[in-house]
Amino acid sequence: MADDTLPPEGPAPGPATRLIHHPYRAPAGFDAPAVPVAKASTVFFDSVAAMRSTRWADKSGYTYGLHGTPTSFTLEARLATLEGASHVLLAPSGLAAIALVDQALLGPGDTLLLPDNVYAPSRNLAEHELRRWGINTLTYDPLDAEAFGRLLGPSTRLIWLEAAGSVTLEFPDLRGLVATARRLAPQAVIALDNTWGAGLAFDAFALGTGPDGQPLGVDLSVHALTKYPAGGGDLLMGSLACRDAGLHARLAAAHGRLGLGVGANDVEAVLRGLPSLPLRYAAQDAAARALAAHCAAQAATPGSLIRRVLHPARPDSPGHAHWAALCRAAAGLLTLEFAPEAAEGPRRAERFVEALRHFRIGYSWGGPVSLAVPYEPTQIRPAGSPFRGPLVRLCIGLEDVADLIADVDQALVCAAR
Ligand SMILES: *Cc1c(COP(=O)(O)O)cnc(C)c1O
Repeated sequence: MADDTLPPEGPAPGPATRLIHHPYRAPAGFDAPAVPVAKASTVFFDSVAAMRSTRWADKSGYTYGLHGTPTSFTLEARLATLEGASHVLLAPSGLAAIALVDQALLGPGDTLLLPDNVYAPSRNLAEHELRRWGINTLTYDPLDAEAFGRLLGPSTRLIWLEAAGSVTLEFPDLRGLVATARRLAPQAVIALDNTWGAGLAFDAFALGTGPDGQPLGVDLSVHALTKYPAGGGDLLMGSLACRDAGLHARLAAAHGRLGLGVGANDVEAVLRGLPSLPLRYAAQDAAARALAAHCAAQAATPGSLIRRVLHPARPDSPGHAHWAALCRAAAGLLTLEFAPEAAEGPRRAERFVEALRHFRIGYSWGGPVSLAVPYEPTQIRPAGSPFRGPLVRLCIGLEDVADLIADVDQALVCAAR
């Protein structure tokens, strides 16, 4: 019953049946700024033949909600445009996207490389899940390309990059790391956690040219859409973008088998956030730089609680030259390194965080509300930290920057008491 209209003869259907098998169909031709929210687990087919021949993997058709809807395909297409990718998959969170990459590409005996400043749940996944499956993980110093090269070998199957690094915000030499990996482990897939750059700060698939004159780019760009693309602090989603059809096919097959569906209302919320993404990113970038400059001036005063401001655009921040050579923007994150001698262990940093009024205490970033999280250097660097004092990561929301600066100043006064 292709058009689902009521049968012409036979007994009149009951009210429940008439409510469900209703002949009205909205006309095509409704065009508006927002795409309609297509919600489905079930998708109908006109015939058994159509059911059997419809393909979702190449996005030529719809078979089941888990395998995509017009709404999710629209978001995937727009994210591909943002990054200059050919293929995008959505996952229920940024971490689920990372886990999908690890699961799809690694097997027993393979070696995985992670930067030692990696997003911590990614390291936990490797240590607790991947290890049980016979996958070996090595961590590298993201600012030491030579030492990184020494870790590469024939078993290296997947290399994660992150720029800037979570919490400590060192900016690695992405071109150097990718060129080294291509030379010494050509079989490895290079995946970038591109949440910080959001597809705006630099082009992950076109980083420049390598020493051999060949174009350099990562194979996979993974985002926590939870952060800037969603922009509201109100949903979780991840994405994986690539240019290679074969790599996409491997990831899409694993994605289908693992059941990684995303909710249509959340997809719609990200689609709603995307048009303002560049404006929000630029505003939060500018506000973070203003606050970083203010805090750096504070750090230069005698007896200041702040020892250093970590932000890739600051000349004394680790990896600043790499950031300057590659990036046109920076995200709205900065981290304050407290002076260890002035900090009484973690207590002053914690008092500072609790004294903030506009910054709320909370994880994540990219939303309208500024956030603060205190970290102990050893907590984020199990292998040994180059940072001495307690750290406080600040994520800039959309408040007036003058209010945020005043807030930090009053909280520093409170913490110093
Ligand atoms: C938040 C974040 C993730 C994980 O995203 P979720 O959606 O919270 O799972 C991954 N990488 C980085 C760098 C992040 O900031």
